[in-house]
Amino acid sequence: MPNYYCKYCGQRFSSLAMLETNHCIRHPEGPQNHHELYEKGEQTHYVCKYCGQKYFSIADMTANRCPHHPNGRGQGRHAPEE
Ligand SMILES: [Zn+2]
Ligand SMILES: [Zn+2]
Repeated sequence: MPNYYCKYCGQRFSSLAMLETNHCIRHPEGPQNHHELYEKGEQTHYVCKYCGQKYFSIADMTANRCPHHPNGRGQGRHAPEE
């Protein structure tokens, strides 16, 4: 069975419907929004598209704010390359 990952919080879902109907606490526009699919799927590691730091899970990556975020230093979370 395939796994689906949210690109904002790294939560894993066994169905796309579950991912799309649940709210994401790390959504950049607020937790009233839904999870969004990470299109590249499961990887051995994930690299932040802003600062290049490497993580072994999206959940670990997006737990922290990124010093090179385009909105300003620490104004948003690290985000995986797409
Ligand atoms: Zn999410
Ligand atoms: Zn970063």
